[in-house]
Amino acid sequence: MKKLFGVIGDPIAHSMSPVMHNSAFAALGVDGYYHPFHIKPDDLADAIKGMKAIGVEGFNVTIPHKTAIIPLLDKVDPLAKAIGAVNTVVRENHQWVGYNTDGLGYVRALREEYPGTLEDQHVLVIGAGGAARAIFYTLASEGVKRITIANRTPEKAKVMVENCPYLVEGTVLSLTEAEETLGTYDVIIQTTSIGMAPQTEEIPIALHSLKSMAFVSDIIYNPLETKLLKEAKKQGAYTQNGLKMFVYQGALAFEKWTGFFPDVQKMEKIVLQQLGGKTC
Ligand code: NAP
Repeated sequence: MKKLFGVIGDPIAHSMSPVMHNSAFAALGVDGYYHPFHIKPDDLADAIKGMKAIGVEGFNVTIPHKTAIIPLLDKVDPLAKAIGAVNTVVRENHQWVGYNTDGLGYVRALREEYPGTLEDQHVLVIGAGGAARAIFYTLASEGVKRITIANRTPEKAKVMVENCPYLVEGTVLSLTEAEETLGTYDVIIQTTSIGMAPQTEEIPIALHSLKSMAFVSDIIYNPLETKLLKEAKKQGAYTQNGLKMFVYQGALAFEKWTGFFPDVQKMEKIVLQQLGGKTC
């Protein structure tokens, strides 16, 4: 019988995950099917119980359920617990176990393209929302020591740094202070929703004086090149968009469910094709 997987969210129609995972099942000859489930917040608890009852093997979790799902699971992995968000749920011995592959997916994508050793670099993370927390804690857990966080609401960034369970020199700045100190960062990671379609002309901070050879990464992938990345490219920086992060978080979830690590290049191609007609 086909093994059933899926993603829960509200809204969910836009999700690229079904096509990405279903193509990986086909490529690996796994008899599985991945379905998008539109679940409203009030129905979350019933949905989690129902999915267990009908034999779902595992699922992804997206906005707005990543935090609300935690008390509804049987177990939560320590990194996901520290981040305070779950994006992947696996059925293990009839129990729902929650993981977070967003941060791991991001760092894997970054390491693949960063032309150096990350651990000694000075990193600026712009934003202090769910994705920023996943990335910040994962970088810290992998030994990156100097991480500055800049956010519109610096208090949120302070809480994020204070609650980090890993050893890290975390500094908090306003967005203006980040602009003023821009020349000191080797890696700049943009995690806010600023610049995402349809607001493609917005930019979270002005890029006046990037360090030469700086690496600027934006986790947005719609559009594939945000205004921030365009400006960074003009100044000669290395740039990376959020597509690889999306693909790697999915690939890591797929591996947890099936034991197989899928072909990420093929997955990336499929998502890129899907995005083709609607990058703006
Ligand atoms: P979130 O938890 O809602 O956090 C949003 C962040 O953006 C906060 O830091 C918020 O600042 C900031 N922000 C929002 N509007 C702003 C504005 N007008 N001016 C300044 N700052 C603003 O969202 P999230 O889940 O972290 O997602 C953030 C982005 O990452 C989204 O675009 C999402 O699509 C993308 N994402 C990509 C991937 C991927 O796989 N590539 C994965 C996850 C998320 P305050 O704290 O001041 O409100």
